[in-house]
Amino acid sequence: MSATAENTFDIVILGGGSGGYACALRAAELGLSVALVEKGKLGGTCLHMGCIPTKALLHAAEVADTAREGTQFGVKTTFESVDMTGVNAYKDGVVARLYKGLQGLVKSKSIEYVQGVGRLVATNTIEVDGRRLVGKNVVLATGSYAKSLPGLDIGGRIMTSEQALFLDFVPSRVVVLGGGVIGVEFASVFKSFGSEVTIIEALPRLVAAEDEAISKQLERSFRKRKINFKTNVKFSGVTTSGDTVSVALESGESIEADLLLVAVGRGPVTAGLGYEEAGVAVDRGFVLANERCQTNIEGIYAVGDIVPGLQLAHRGFAQGIFVAEQIAGLNPPVIDEMGIPRVTYCDPEIASIGYTEAQAKEKFGQIETYDYSLGGNGKSQILATQGFVKLVRQKDGPVVGVHMIGARMGEQVGEAQLIYNWEALPSDVAQLIHAHPTQNEALGEAHLALAGKPLHAHA
Ligand SMILES: Cc1cc2nc3c(=O)[nH]c(=O)nc-3n(C[C@H](O)[C@H](O)[C@H](O)COP(=O)(O)OP(=O)(O)OC[C@H]3O[C@@H](n4cnc5c(N)ncnc54)[C@H](O)[C@@H]3O)c2cc1C
Repeated sequence: MSATAENTFDIVILGGGSGGYACALRAAELGLSVALVEKGKLGGTCLHMGCIPTKALLHAAEVADTAREGTQFGVKTTFESVDMTGVNAYKDGVVARLYKGLQGLVKSKSIEYVQGVGRLVATNTIEVDGRRLVGKNVVLATGSYAKSLPGLDIGGRIMTSEQALFLDFVPSRVVVLGGGVIGVEFASVFKSFGSEVTIIEALPRLVAAEDEAISKQLERSFRKRKINFKTNVKFSGVTTSGDTVSVALESGESIEADLLLVAVGRGPVTAGLGYEEAGVAVDRGFVLANERCQTNIEGIYAVGDIVPGLQLAHRGFAQGIFVAEQIAGLNPPVIDEMGIPRVTYCDPEIASIGYTEAQAKEKFGQIETYDYSLGGNGKSQILATQGFVKLVRQKDGPVVGVHMIGARMGEQVGEAQLIYNWEALPSDVAQLIHAHPTQNEALGEAHLALAGKPLHAHA
């Protein structure tokens, strides 16, 4: 079949998740002709299986905890139970509304939305059900899938986040394999819903990508919440008998549970899609792209989870927008991966940007750090939460890392990212006034202290 005008576009995008649809929307805004190919649901992992449904579960979890803890605030509440039918209806309602909105948005732009499984069949062509879409540029955005371990088959009571999002019961006992972002978020939800939870993590600490102080505080908080965890220990096998799973560890221990949640990371969806045949450089399945999101093949770009780096929806959005602008000739500034905010939405929440203390030492040599305890922050005391804001700065230089933990601290990452990305000095931030009493004030106080004029700081 030859390429006809209606099958030729400025950009053909494979994958309609965060990276792909953001690219399509921005390209259409810039007057480029776009085809967007999606085999499943527009919105991808984030909207249907990731960010949105999990955060709805975490909100339901917070409501359950609020009901439990009312008396602490002098309000007589009792927690009865979690009705998973109701929780799922709420969660699915949120997803459905956003999905409808997104579909309307794509429809309102001149984007050729093509439903079906696509494959790269030439360096400028995606084929979908026999239709060949030819692009002056091609953007690969096929996302990621939940990985498992060798010999660990997913099915029944052994599941990944994908199946765990649709549970119709609250398990009494859960083992969560993996203490990274997805693992600790689910552990937090299950605990609030009433399950007994044990996290198994092979690395020496939970959320190992975060600053070490954050891991320590999370572990303290989880201990307080009676969320069990074992670090430095490897999974060795699992057996199932009826509705019980028995999880064996290399330490010789075994743990029985009603459910094993496997949260050991996400791999790229790139196999069998023609990428390597077209000559696109791939490393362990990930598509290699430079800082301008270009692969080694001219005219082929890659965005989102298939590109090594942070697997976050807003990174996908930013890369998608970047590629559209790059193709439109706007020469956008490159994205600083360290300047991408990271939030883990367990209770307590974790929010960070930039370098950890260890990374900063390695990169900059001389650094200074300051930990501001939420013990001195009025709003955090009102919320009865503990945690801190930790700043890392280059000696006599800008703030290069902000690390926060405590209830609702995810909301503070907005200012933290401005501080990092604008290379602010502590004294620049210290002269900005932060409203009292807010948790945001803790960021202001930390900078006041680091600038040498502490206010409500004990150390
Ligand atoms: C449980 C969980 C919680 C998460 N929470 C957060 C969070 O709170 N915040 C955050 O920032 N990130 C979160 N993430 C990560 C976030 O979902 C991803 O980083 C983001 O979705 C990546 O976007 P993407 O466009 O690269 O891929 P995806 O969203 O995976 O989209 C890829 C799309 O490509 C389609 N596709 C694949 N192959 C083909 C093909 N051959 N033909 C046609 N279409 C194809 C897929 O159907 C899919 O829709 C979470 C992820 C999970 C799993």
